[in-house]
Amino acid sequence: MTRKLFYEDSHMQEFEAEVLSCEPSGDGYIITLDETAFFPEGGGQYADTGWLGDVRVTDVHEKGGIVRHMADRPLEPGTKVKGRINWEERFEKMQQHSGEHIISGLVHKKFGYDNVGFHLGSGYCTIDFNGPITNRELKEIEELANEAVFRDLDIQVAYPSNEELQSIDYRSKIEIEGQVRIVTVPGYDVCACCAPHVDRTGEIGLIKLTDMVNYKGGERINMLCGIRALRDYRQKERNVKEVSALLCAKEDEVAEAVRHLKEEQIQQKGKLASLQQKLIAYKAAEISADSGRVVVFDSELSGNGPRELMNLLLDRGARVCAVLAGTDREGYRYVIGSRAEDVRPLCKSMNSRFSGRGGGKPEMVQGSLAGEEKEIRSFIEGL
Ligand SMILES: [Zn+2]
Repeated sequence: MTRKLFYEDSHMQEFEAEVLSCEPSGDGYIITLDETAFFPEGGGQYADTGWLGDVRVTDVHEKGGIVRHMADRPLEPGTKVKGRINWEERFEKMQQHSGEHIISGLVHKKFGYDNVGFHLGSGYCTIDFNGPITNRELKEIEELANEAVFRDLDIQVAYPSNEELQSIDYRSKIEIEGQVRIVTVPGYDVCACCAPHVDRTGEIGLIKLTDMVNYKGGERINMLCGIRALRDYRQKERNVKEVSALLCAKEDEVAEAVRHLKEEQIQQKGKLASLQQKLIAYKAAEISADSGRVVVFDSELSGNGPRELMNLLLDRGARVCAVLAGTDREGYRYVIGSRAEDVRPLCKSMNSRFSGRGGGKPEMVQGSLAGEEKEIRSFIEGL
């Protein structure tokens, strides 16, 4: 059995240990030590990373009480080695995990729901509960949780006997074999847990519940604690400051400013559409529709513009009318119509000549193609 230093001191960052074994495995090596501060994966918390001397530890697992360090290079059994865990990463995880206990304890006390899923990833942390929670209740829980932080309570770890356990009311996800480890946040939570925690609730820092979605008949809550909450604050601050500067609006009024901008945009779109309508009428009047086939190129028409122009020209007597919107470089969107003949064969031959795509009904086809205006025009007029 490996002596687990992370249980004796959850704040141990460095330690010295003896290498007991080193076996090749996959691309690296599995190293065991007589004692370690590396916490293996467990309790919803992923494993520590760090260094054993100059050797990188990328993952840690526990098997039958033995902690196995996955390393990129070998170490000589029998030698002493200095271990160093990635403390920033570990402390960040302990902040999230201890925060999770407080939230789960509060939800359990208030609603009787169980924590049925806990995922502590490198950038996110979610907690699943098996019952509904309203947004207002979520805010309440968040406030109470932060109260626990402000009170800077001692987080207690105990190893009660089986007899003592009978009289303790604690949360537990699974039936635990062997010694049960009880983590208590006084007044907030009592829970069986195998992971290292911060010593005092003040170390958790701000507990922010950022999102809640319905999940399997219950709720999935997104939570950020401590340094992660600060990072999130900074990112949101950057965004708000940028939007505020772009809109020349005060930071606490950006939402109102964006709403205003959207309304303005809708009005502009309406104006643009009516201007386009007028433009199309002028264009149609300028184009001679006497010849059998009328081909019009235009780089400005958008939306329904090409079709409206085509209809106006058909009204004015064109037998077949093709309107192409776009440029030689970007390609063209086309619409072709006729009230006298089936335009589908024309569409088909055009598509195959100019690697286009599209189709439609006998009286109207539309699609897109690529080519030069001159060639497309003579192709349609010449057919
Ligand atoms: Zn836990």
